[in-house]
Amino acid sequence: MIFILILSIISQILCEQTHEEEIKRDYCQLPDAVLADGVSATDFGTTGWNYANANNWDEIVVTCGGSFQSPIDILTSSATQEAIQPKIHYKNKASDVAYEEANKPYTKEYEGEYSEIDVTDASGLIVRYYAKQFHIHTPSEHTIDGKYYDLEIHFVHQAIQDEQQDCNKVKNTLTVFGLMFTESASASDYEVFKPWFDQNVTGEVESFDLNDFFQKMTDTTYYHYNGSLTTLPCSQIVNWIVFYQALPISPSQLNQFRSTFTDSTVFPLKQNNRPIQHLNGRKILKGTAITTGVAEIPNLEASYAFLVLVTLVMNGLFL
Ligand SMILES: [Zn+2]
Repeated sequence: MIFILILSIISQILCEQTHEEEIKRDYCQLPDAVLADGVSATDFGTTGWNYANANNWDEIVVTCGGSFQSPIDILTSSATQEAIQPKIHYKNKASDVAYEEANKPYTKEYEGEYSEIDVTDASGLIVRYYAKQFHIHTPSEHTIDGKYYDLEIHFVHQAIQDEQQDCNKVKNTLTVFGLMFTESASASDYEVFKPWFDQNVTGEVESFDLNDFFQKMTDTTYYHYNGSLTTLPCSQIVNWIVFYQALPISPSQLNQFRSTFTDSTVFPLKQNNRPIQHLNGRKILKGTAITTGVAEIPNLEASYAFLVLVTLVMNGLFL
């Protein structure tokens, strides 16, 4: 019996090793030499692209002058109803997977090998993505009926490459969710932002669940269109989903973000938002997402108990 138990423990260890290999991220490739967050070989700063020369980025990278650029003004009356109701829910969150602070001179950003999400693209095809990073812009980049919001978070997801998903059929390699925030004196500070500003807090966030933001919404209306990265190299590979309802942010946290962009040479308006781009005939779809649900956290202890049970039953049957 002890021998069988040892065997089952060994097989469990092997299983876990296999599982670790399985959760290694394989992404659909981006069409040009871009990282998912839009960083290119061209540097941000006084000698490269910055927010003082944002109207001339097409002179640095030609794609930035393309016809399907972001951000845009979302004219809500022009949006047509999306046929499906997507579920915005991150799954397979492992407790030991954290977001780490990324060193980006033009934003505040967390990067991580986080979790998986199914997203419907503008043609109605369901595409599987991994959440890769999220970062902020202040004020918002997108406007809704001409209105700017105090802050916009971009949640960046890159399509998954595996046996079940053919990357050639994925139109937009990236899906980015835009989530608006409005200053509110009664808002409490978000714990997840603190490592960006508090020297006493580590730059790693373990307990945070991306679902937390989306489950705070009472109205999950969103606008959906095909666009681009809003930083260089402006690649036109983004399935954009911009949520209508703004969440509250405290004056102190908003000021912390604003005070990040004080260098007037590269942030002349002390802002990191790209100017609004032309729609050029693109369709904007409108929908309502389902954002509630229970995270599917893998239960390794339960699977181990099951394996032992199976081993014992097999033992009883065959020995
Ligand atoms: Zn962004």
